[in-house]
Amino acid sequence: MSLLVFLNLLAMSDAGPPLGDAGSVPKPKVAARMITERVGKRTFGELLDDLGVASAEAYRLISATRRMKGRDKGIDYRRLRPKDLVTMRLESGRVSFIEVRREYATETPSVKRAVAQDNGYEIRQVDFAVDIKLALVRGSIQSTLSESVDELGEYPVLLNKYVELFGWAMDFYRETRRGDEFTVLVEKLYLDGVFVGYGRLLSGVYKSGLHGEMVAFRADLKKGGYAVYDASGRSMQRAFLRNPVPITRITSSYGMRFHPVLGRRKKHNGVDYGAATGTKVWSVARGRVKYAAWAGASGKLVIVSHANGYETIYAHLSRINVRKNQYVAQRQLLGRVGTTGRSTGPHLHYGMKRHGRYVDPLRQRFARGAALPKTKKAGFLARVKKELPMLRGEQGLPESAVDWLGDAL
Ligand SMILES: [Zn+2]
Repeated sequence: MSLLVFLNLLAMSDAGPPLGDAGSVPKPKVAARMITERVGKRTFGELLDDLGVASAEAYRLISATRRMKGRDKGIDYRRLRPKDLVTMRLESGRVSFIEVRREYATETPSVKRAVAQDNGYEIRQVDFAVDIKLALVRGSIQSTLSESVDELGEYPVLLNKYVELFGWAMDFYRETRRGDEFTVLVEKLYLDGVFVGYGRLLSGVYKSGLHGEMVAFRADLKKGGYAVYDASGRSMQRAFLRNPVPITRITSSYGMRFHPVLGRRKKHNGVDYGAATGTKVWSVARGRVKYAAWAGASGKLVIVSHANGYETIYAHLSRINVRKNQYVAQRQLLGRVGTTGRSTGPHLHYGMKRHGRYVDPLRQRFARGAALPKTKKAGFLARVKKELPMLRGEQGLPESAVDWLGDAL
């Protein structure tokens, strides 16, 4: 496959509707989407499931592309490491392209690709070093954050990574204002000088008309996942995420409203997020699944119990990925957006109860996450000292690869 085709595939990644602007027209839908994810602490099968690949297609893909004894070609799915990067193109439920990239920061990166042909896949070991360059992306908001990122020529996946940095401190659905400024330090990956994707996101600044300036540094955790700290090493994370879905738009808020199906005024006990069927729905906090089944007007429903008397509710799902009594982590996949039950179109109804009474999930205040471990503080502050001048544009970016992040915490 030529580089150009590859780039075209990349450009087709699913952008989703713009952020925080319910009235604007969503980008044209494309049947294909390109996904890149680290394997993390999952089997390859679990990863495919998380990405919404049906089990029959997963079986077909794995049997056609896996590495077999005495055969050099093929992908060794059993030896995937948490840091390996898997890129896939999903086209009407089928995986037409898959690439497994072993940690790119090593001196000799290993990249295996399988591209769908008429009968099966063509598998190739690709021997080129990906060039990693640190980049500073900055802009200001004219209408929405997603449009601003788009105008800079960047891809939606960067927006999602960025929102993860500040998603605890700031509500990008409702609190972005014209003139807000965003800056992010992110690695960019190049093949033969052509941009092919993002690497690690290091840190960012958001200058908010509402909250003032916020600076966030992302650090990988040994147990998987990541932590976000401010410049003094205080956690920016909260026990609860603000939103249970990636960037979409809120179509109906908490409180009184005219009910579209019932045709009368009724209290809306939650927040509706307009999102395409199949969009990930994750648990906003650690907890235990209290309910995971069909529930009449709510359709496919998941309820999770959390500490301090909280309960969160996720309704109208197309698919449920958890079982009753199962423990779930923050941001663990619960299911997929759908339109089951009494619903006029694909959306997530997200509700929250405290001690049995409905509350507005977007108006709750939650405790901070754990601070940086004492033994890691000096290393972290040294990193802040290095990155802050780059974020502020007071110092140029290094030519060489980023080597100051140290080990995972
Ligand atoms: Zn609702």
